[in-house]
Amino acid sequence: MKIAMIGAGYVGLVSGTCLSELGNNVVCVDIDEEKINKLKKGIVPFYEPGLKDLMERNAKEKRLSFTTSIKEALQESNVVFIAVGTPTGKNHSADIEAVKSVAANIGKFMNGYKLIVIKSTVPVGTTEKLKKIIASKQSKKIDFDIASNPEFLREGEAVNDFLIPDRIVIGVENEKAKKAMEGIYKGIARTNKPIMVTDIKSSELIKYASNAMLAARISFMNEISALCEKTGADIKEVAKGMGLDSRIGSRFLQAGIGYGGSCFPKDVKALAETMKENDCKARMLEAIEAVNQDQKKSLVPKLQKLLPELNGKTIGVWGLAFKPKTDDLREAPSIVIIEELQKLGAKIKAFDPEAMENARKILKNVVYCKDAFETVKGSDALLIVTEWNEFRDIDLKEVKKLLKQPIIVDGRNIYEPTEMKALGFTYVAIGR
Ligand code: NAD
Repeated sequence: MKIAMIGAGYVGLVSGTCLSELGNNVVCVDIDEEKINKLKKGIVPFYEPGLKDLMERNAKEKRLSFTTSIKEALQESNVVFIAVGTPTGKNHSADIEAVKSVAANIGKFMNGYKLIVIKSTVPVGTTEKLKKIIASKQSKKIDFDIASNPEFLREGEAVNDFLIPDRIVIGVENEKAKKAMEGIYKGIARTNKPIMVTDIKSSELIKYASNAMLAARISFMNEISALCEKTGADIKEVAKGMGLDSRIGSRFLQAGIGYGGSCFPKDVKALAETMKENDCKARMLEAIEAVNQDQKKSLVPKLQKLLPELNGKTIGVWGLAFKPKTDDLREAPSIVIIEELQKLGAKIKAFDPEAMENARKILKNVVYCKDAFETVKGSDALLIVTEWNEFRDIDLKEVKKLLKQPIIVDGRNIYEPTEMKALGFTYVAIGR
């Protein structure tokens, strides 16, 4: 297949590269000229393990290229994926302006039959609207089909998630579009991963409902962790015992400082808005979000119990990205926590293995350190905000020597409280 991938961000670039790896010819399009220039030189504009090698190989074999011209890319392709951003817009609903603008351009520049695939996460009913926009912008009637193909990859695991997914969801209106989509993914079908073909609206909603369910599990465990702290139960034991129930399963049961990133926060809010627009109640969705907002702020009062006067104190922070193995700071708990500490007069030293460049653009008056040890040197306490592996196995005796006071507040439960006590730390975690 000849594919144009419009939007070369975390999803578009990974999807475009992986689709070229599956044997398709892919041209990635973005309006960001700087990004496209970097990509042409083989520079990946964000951190994603495994992506650079795959990108280089497929570019060398001429299956993958980059451009800022949607017109050229569209006219050379028979399938067009839309993978531009759908951030939070007015009243927390999804802002679909970028998707609409791409659809208008597709209608305008179309030179023959195309299959147009919506990969961006869009509210149920959007694909139908996009179909109308495309038709309305055509200067003469040209036949096209439309499909929904939401993406479920996780940043940090994106390449593997794309090439070995739990499932591929495809929403189509007819057999022709179904056949074409199955052709694009035939490399994955060979691995026996299920390809679910359904109607377009169900496909759009599967994406939002999946993210909301995962977010619900996180908020649920965070709510239970508060009761653990009051009563002396241990959330890790509770999660283990729950996870052994095959109806529940063990994944996504970790308590922590809440979810962040470019998907869960905006998708839970957008789904709640879609519910209300359709006269449905969104009680569970609103609760998921409210618990998460509180949880993001929960590290600061824990620290204040140990250091009541934060004014003038130096606090070390390990981890800035919203989760490990990414440099993405969108909706990261680190932003809420650091800004709150700064309001209380604390000085911040911070380290993240990959996200410091992005953090510098958002978090000001922070001393960015070269490694985890420099961060704790002379600090009055350490906060653990992102659970990078290198923090799990660090020399804790050295950390204790470098800290001014041996206080650790761990937002990700990466250590065992009894071991930390034995090492002489004052150690506070979540729900333990
Ligand atoms: P992103 O912000 O990383 O990338 C979006 C890209 O689209 C940017 O490079 C931007 O310059 C480009 N763009 C914007 N308008 C454009 C236009 N008119 N023409 C061409 N390019 C344009 O966003 P993302 O994280 O890749 O997310 C894209 C979509 O995928 C969203 O709907 C998101 O919800 C969904 N999604 C994201 C993830 C994730 O982990 N990031 C996972 C699954 C689904």
